[in-house]
Amino acid sequence: MNPNTATTPEELMRSRYAAFERKDFDYLVMTETNPEPMDADTKVWLASLTWCRLEIISAQGQQVEFNAYHLEQGVPYCLHERSDFVQNAQGQWLYDKGEVERIKLTIGRNDPCICQSGKKFKKCCGA
Ligand SMILES: [Zn+2]
Repeated sequence: MNPNTATTPEELMRSRYAAFERKDFDYLVMTETNPEPMDADTKVWLASLTWCRLEIISAQGQQVEFNAYHLEQGVPYCLHERSDFVQNAQGQWLYDKGEVERIKLTIGRNDPCICQSGKKFKKCCGA
């Protein structure tokens, strides 16, 4: 598990996205304000997701708004979230809460890939 060395909410957001990518659930739990062990079903579900791209929309004060593109069973989704972060007594940034909406995307196999590789979806993440 990586240590939490983020110095801004955006940095912590990026490090948490990277933890989703590498299925580092301990890091995700450790970087929340109310660390609760993750249940087995949640871990299985998260492990099944393929993350394609993080797009930071805005980062102001304690809030970060982003889109996280991912695939579930080959189906593309966009997780849109406005997250609030807080600093603990040691000055570490932690994820506090978020307003989340998950949108199923309609992407043709010949459309540009959601990861912005410039390739067609079917030749990239959708392969
Ligand atoms: Zn792709």
